[in-house]
Amino acid sequence: MIWKVLSYPRCRLTSLPTPMERAARLSGELGIELLVKRDDVMELCLGGNKVRKLEFILADALNRRCDVLITRGATHSNHVRLTAAAARKFGLDVYAVITPPGSLANQGNVLLDRLLGARLVPVDRVEEADEAMLGLAEKLRAEGRNPYVIPVGGASELGVLGYALAALEILQQSLSLGVRPKYIVHATGTGATQAGLTLGLRLLGASDVKVLGISNGRRSPEVVRRLVDLFNSTSRMLGVDLRASEDDFVVYDEYAFGGYGVITSEVVDVMKYVARTEGMLLDPVYTAKAMYGLIDLVRRGTIERGSTVVFVHTGGTPIAFQYAAEVERYL
Ligand SMILES: *Cc1c(COP(=O)(O)O)cnc(C)c1O
Repeated sequence: MIWKVLSYPRCRLTSLPTPMERAARLSGELGIELLVKRDDVMELCLGGNKVRKLEFILADALNRRCDVLITRGATHSNHVRLTAAAARKFGLDVYAVITPPGSLANQGNVLLDRLLGARLVPVDRVEEADEAMLGLAEKLRAEGRNPYVIPVGGASELGVLGYALAALEILQQSLSLGVRPKYIVHATGTGATQAGLTLGLRLLGASDVKVLGISNGRRSPEVVRRLVDLFNSTSRMLGVDLRASEDDFVVYDEYAFGGYGVITSEVVDVMKYVARTEGMLLDPVYTAKAMYGLIDLVRRGTIERGSTVVFVHTGGTPIAFQYAAEVERYL
């Protein structure tokens, strides 16, 4: 049934598949077989998981003859940066409502947003951000423009399709490496990544592969509710007879270290550890917390020694520069 996903219109924003590599030294230290799906390695503007979602979302926007994208995110948002880059690649304008946390100084993603010419509209309270997007859309329509509003994180049914295809890539690449993953571990936020991987595995008849989401801030029940909704609405959109319930998702919220965007010594320690073991960069908001979770789940025996584990590197490295002062504190 994965052909239903493959037949959806898609814009090409990067070459796929992204690489999947064996992290030999980390594998040895942790006592597992660790593969890293490098979704941080993409052509479009430093890459990351939002690119896969935007391939489907952009195709829809272009089909509707939209000429300007509107989205929102935290000030340090990777999603805003990549939406801006995707918009530019297809000749569209872009507005982004941005909310705390994150600095507005010209560093990291904010610097890149400005280079890309995204119009940043700061709003103090996240609760007002959706309304601000709709107000912006109305204003642009009154000026004769045709705006397209993308939800925070690209967490729409079309966004979910991007990660359903990633599940196919992961299984194919595992097969060619001669392994079968038992777990896929990744940072989870607005949910399209986890909902998409879970849906893709179900469509492929591979739901024995367990997806473990590490929340970067939200409490687990709230994330799971969103995952159920996203999974079910996407499966309805595809016209497939698959339904998910809360039991189909595992989300750990104990690795957020004080909440979204909070950077503690543990987070920087993991960034240093992975940089010094594998030469691989993690970001302090998403991937470092996800890797901390993975390591702790191995330590606790939830992930059994000897298991084959795929860590999805969802990107976000520019954030390390935006939070240089916080990271520096624990160097
Ligand atoms: C957005 C983001 C996530 C979370 O992905 P969701 O699909 O929103 O759950 C994880 N890692 C990075 C680097 C991100 O930018």
